[in-house]
Amino acid sequence: MARYTGPVCKQCRREGEKLFLKGSRCYGKKCSFERREYGPGQHGNSRRRRKTSGYGTQLREKQKVRRIYGILEKQFHNYYLKAARAKGVTCENLLAFLERRLDNFVYRLGFAPSRASARQLVLHRHFTVNNRLVDIPSYSLKAGDVVKVRDKSKNLDIIHSALKDADRSADIPWLRLNKAALEGELLEVPKRADIPVIASEQLIVELYSK
Ligand code: SF4
Repeated sequence: MARYTGPVCKQCRREGEKLFLKGSRCYGKKCSFERREYGPGQHGNSRRRRKTSGYGTQLREKQKVRRIYGILEKQFHNYYLKAARAKGVTCENLLAFLERRLDNFVYRLGFAPSRASARQLVLHRHFTVNNRLVDIPSYSLKAGDVVKVRDKSKNLDIIHSALKDADRSADIPWLRLNKAALEGELLEVPKRADIPVIASEQLIVELYSK
């Protein structure tokens, strides 16, 4: 599937907040958003106040979450349809589906500095799920699934330095990380309160259900 290949930091500036798309760079002085906290483009720095409509607010929220998880529009809409069909509250289902993607789970475990590089690592066949090779970033994990770094990939610098830099999994109760064995388990389907993403997913559901 096609991916967004434009400037990454532009996406944060467009949404007016840090989306943490670039790993350790996002936490340092080199973060573009810290240096230019205004929108991209010729009029991005304009001080003109613009009124945002209800639709505009919903659209921005959807774009923000889509960019955080690195998903294109069509696939994101499919997640919404899946969430609407599933039992429970649609907006909570939506985030739970996104969190259960294999590339996101690899990022949450701390095996990659960003979701984009987690996606790359999955595509390059560095992980197994329940001892079977899986190279599909959107692969949806179930409770009890165990994701492991393949034996041939255990010496990859990117994985070890990502693990050293971030202790992302520590506060997440729905996963278990075994650093020594380079494996992690999805303990349960994530609940909204335990998903560390600041977003108003209700607005996204309102947008799509029009
Ligand atoms: Fe966003 Fe990270 Fe770029 Fe900063 S460095 S603008 S947080 S992607």
